Amino acid sequence: MSEPDFGLCGRCLFQRLVRTTRGSVFSLCERSREDPRFPRYPKMPVGSCVGFAPRLDSAPGAGEVDVP
Ligand code: SF4
Repeated sequence: MSEPDFGLCGRCLFQRLVRTTRGSVFSLCERSREDPRFPRYPKMPVGSCVGFAPRLDSAPGAGEVDVP
């Protein structure tokens, strides 16, 4: 199954993909943990973001977590 279009978040160091057991995928912004300017789950696709930092590995969802 292909990933949704996450825009800039899909290439960002601070993105974590969260998968539900029902197969839904959400893009979580790790910056939201310490900076209230960033929503936990930004509206996709994100076109521009002051917090963007390019991920060195190009694999999407490098920090994936599964949730029940
Ligand atoms: S910092 Fe910006 S570009 Fe990076 S994951 Fe968060 S919202 Fe997306």
